[in-house]
Amino acid sequence: MLIVQKFGGTSVGDLDRIGNVASRVSATKKEGNDVIVVVSAMSGETNKLVGYAEHFSSHPAAAEMDMLLSAGERVTASLLAIALQEMGHDATAMTGRKAGIVTDVNHTKARIERIDPEVMQNAVKSGKIIVVAGFQGVNEAGDVTTLGRGGSDLSAVAIAGALKADLCEIYTDVSGIYTTDPRIEPKAKKLDKISYDEMLELASLGAKVLQNRSVEMAKKLNVNLVTRTSFSNEEGTLITKEENIMEAPLVSGIALDRNQARISLMGVKDRPGIASDIFNRLATAEVNVDMIIQNKAHDGATNIDFTVPVGDLFDAKEIVDSFVQDGEIKADSYNEEICKVSVVGVGMRSHAGVAAKAFSTMAENNININMISTSEIKISMVIDEKYAELAVRGLHDAYELEK
Ligand code: ADP
Ligand code: ASP
Ligand code: MG
Repeated sequence: MLIVQKFGGTSVGDLDRIGNVASRVSATKKEGNDVIVVVSAMSGETNKLVGYAEHFSSHPAAAEMDMLLSAGERVTASLLAIALQEMGHDATAMTGRKAGIVTDVNHTKARIERIDPEVMQNAVKSGKIIVVAGFQGVNEAGDVTTLGRGGSDLSAVAIAGALKADLCEIYTDVSGIYTTDPRIEPKAKKLDKISYDEMLELASLGAKVLQNRSVEMAKKLNVNLVTRTSFSNEEGTLITKEENIMEAPLVSGIALDRNQARISLMGVKDRPGIASDIFNRLATAEVNVDMIIQNKAHDGATNIDFTVPVGDLFDAKEIVDSFVQDGEIKADSYNEEICKVSVVGVGMRSHAGVAAKAFSTMAENNININMISTSEIKISMVIDEKYAELAVRGLHDAYELEK
């Protein structure tokens, strides 16, 4: 078998843990498998590097950020390869560039355009264990790019897809996918299986256990994806096609995203094309707009509220302010003290009353809902951040997910 094993920050958090990872990889190889390893930076390392940059600038250039942030993964990839060599393996460390991971030009949130697999294929053929620095690629201009926070998951899935690996294992600090973040709700239950679509919703809605784009790619390329812990041999969670899951539960999980900010636009000129102008400008700047609410117009003006990830707030502010300067919007304001809680489940498609239960749970806990959005398989609510944990636990109880 060809197995891709990805180890997250906590799993390579210190030298002993890197040694443990080496033993696990070594055992997998000795069982007769080909192994490609993808590693994250040591836990806290990427944030530390971000902090260094922020010491000098509140909005450092994205190209330099990529050069800086990609350093963390180089450290762990080289150390793990050295540890494996010391155990007698023919191991080789590769940067994203060497591994053939080619991305677009979007620094700090680059998309993988293709993987040139020859270098990795040849190394695997000659019996080498490859250790790839996750989270990074190279653009056509030869500059290093990074794939967005948590992007080592995407590196692993993309490599598994490109090399047609039999299995892609994501090793992390929890033993699989739970009904909600087990650090918020200790009663959360581990799932044996979850569908790509539900996992994609959970990940997109804040469950950082898997980066959302990695799930999207796993679905597209049909990658056999398993999430498990690097601290024991406990079995993990299989992320798979919906038809492989016998009975879809009504609700599979609750997600929390603290990383959201709300932008309020007051006195927006009520003319055809204004929303298109504002949101096209935001899209061109790669600002990820999520929920949008527009109120009824009064006296030729209206109010529009929308949410963006906190990381996109700076760019969004610049654009919105320019509309204020042009007189198209009277005033704008920002609120970072919000969060989004979401209920996810494919079983919702065929059941009524799932949303009503979410709203009454908020009511019982005296939590005011600021914004709501729904799709076939999810309900999301924006609430004040101080109620985040209360809301998650309340919803987990209400849908009886501990059972
Ligand atoms: P890594 O560094 O290995 O990539 P992450 O910190 O990115 O790990 O993701 C693992 C974390 O995701 C867990 O420690 C847990 O707190 C969080 N998490 C959020 N939602 C869930 C969930 N539904 N199931 C499991 N873990 C979750
Ligand atoms: N080190 C990167 C981050 O912290 C990528 C990853 O861990 O997946 O976001
Ligand atoms: Mg992660």
